[in-house]
Amino acid sequence: VVLVDNGRTRLLADPTHRSALHCIRCGACLNTCPVYRRAGGYSYSGPVPGPIGSVLAPAMIGDPAARELPHASSLCGSCTAVCPVKIDLHGQLLAWRRELRSPSRTWQVGVRAAGFVLRHPRAYRLAARAARLLWPLLGREGRANPASPWLQSRELPEHPGPSFRARQRARADERT
Ligand code: SF4
Repeated sequence: VVLVDNGRTRLLADPTHRSALHCIRCGACLNTCPVYRRAGGYSYSGPVPGPIGSVLAPAMIGDPAARELPHASSLCGSCTAVCPVKIDLHGQLLAWRRELRSPSRTWQVGVRAAGFVLRHPRAYRLAARAARLLWPLLGREGRANPASPWLQSRELPEHPGPSFRARQRARADERT
């Protein structure tokens, strides 16, 4: 008989995260998660996909990439709502964020930049316009593209076309 602990004893001793061991691997949190529904089950590192995988990974895997997983969540709480064994998944993701802090300097800079852009409509419009123009360079072949390694195993979606505002403006022009 071979018993594989794989960090479970450590998790059991942790009062904040121990309830993650109740998981029955039903996959409900994976199927409801707006991030994983878009990105696909095994889009991120970690042997267990979905929100429960992001909760288990920092405790069970020594890989530094696992420390980033709790940050890849919108914390909408849909996973917690559907979990049949009532694991407080989004609460645990938040607790991991507090315990692990931001995973890397690049991540911190990226999140700060995104926060600035999302708070300032003008910056948002400028960034959206730049992204549309630079779309052909954003694929996996674009060497200057910081997301290029991430895209080695993923497809960039089709160009989104004109923005919502541009389309609304065109429709208004047509009517007048
Ligand atoms: S919904 Fe709950 S029981 Fe099902 S896989 Fe996710 S954490 Fe595990």
